Amino acid sequence: MSFLPFTRPSIDEATIAGVAEVLRSGWITSGPQVKAFEAALSQLFAGRPVRAFNSGTATLEIALRLAGVGPGDEVITTPLSWVATANVILEVGARPVFVDVDPRTRNIDLDRIETAITPATRALLPVDLAGLPVDRDRLYDIARRRKLRVVEDAAQSFGANWRGRAIGACGDLVSFSFHANKNLTTSEGGALVLSSESDIAPCEKLRLQGVVRSGEDGMEVDVLGGKFNLTDVAARIGLGQLPRLEEFTARRRLLARRYFERWDRSLGCELPVEDFENANWHMFQIVLPDRAKRAEFIAKMRELGFGIGVHYPAMHLFSLYRALGWREGQFPHAERIGRSIATLPLFPAMADADVDRVCAAAKKVLS
Ligand SMILES: *Cc1c(COP(=O)(O)O)cnc(C)c1O
Repeated sequence: MSFLPFTRPSIDEATIAGVAEVLRSGWITSGPQVKAFEAALSQLFAGRPVRAFNSGTATLEIALRLAGVGPGDEVITTPLSWVATANVILEVGARPVFVDVDPRTRNIDLDRIETAITPATRALLPVDLAGLPVDRDRLYDIARRRKLRVVEDAAQSFGANWRGRAIGACGDLVSFSFHANKNLTTSEGGALVLSSESDIAPCEKLRLQGVVRSGEDGMEVDVLGGKFNLTDVAARIGLGQLPRLEEFTARRRLLARRYFERWDRSLGCELPVEDFENANWHMFQIVLPDRAKRAEFIAKMRELGFGIGVHYPAMHLFSLYRALGWREGQFPHAERIGRSIATLPLFPAMADADVDRVCAAAKKVLS
């Protein structure tokens, strides 16, 4: 049996041929493929304006800038995410304010958000960890009542839903990542769903050096923008992935169901929320029992031929964040989960029998 990684992208031959065509076309950076990709994404999100970026990190940063977040502002977020989520808050000069997670969903605990709001709070930055959406009704109820902007870090929830509508089809600013490990990939990339047409021009400026072109030869720069544009090569990969989104999500849901059927509950691991309506099953994550050592589990599973991921250690315990005053003990749920969470293999090209093999190997290692 060959090694089973925790994830692997599914790029079909038609997409590879499409990328070759782009490479031969003579236009390989941002151009017609990016425009077509943005239009296709917009269609997926009820016609809302969408702009593509070269990473989900850039997308989040621009979303914060468009929401007017800057020095002196606070942004409320979860401590349990890829560190990009908090880094972008620092990048725009604001302060991340962490709120512990709900141990069941592993997402920001909506019951605790309001006590963390101060006069400096400008925005909420929730994350749909593993593709399980944060309750959008409750989230936007808080945002509306407290007059806060929302930047949804939906990097992991592309293809997920909330009450039958695609994540991205409603809400304020919604940010996606198309990193190689995400449910839909462009190798590297991201997309931002804008909350109004008036955000389009500032978004495009911030995406590329602040430049605005006019007429045949006009060029003006009035704000400092970055270098965040997606290439046509990457966009063509995304265009090849999009028609397969439903198939990918359905396959992930089936594999997740099988994990629930085959996993031995007597091992004492915490399983994810069994949601097959909203979640896109970006990851299937277990929390190991206290007695189990995660590093040992990972090493022994690797010996048996299975890749196990760590997503993620609690961010406030990184020294960059400790230096800003965050300490151990402040977010007990995120800290415990961050120490013991393990991502099992789950990707569309996996066979049903692979799930059975992972479950059997984990049982052997944990018993
Ligand atoms: C992947 C990811 C990002 C960043 O996306 P990149 O495309 O890697 O820059 C941000 N937040 C979360 C939750 C992610 O999973």
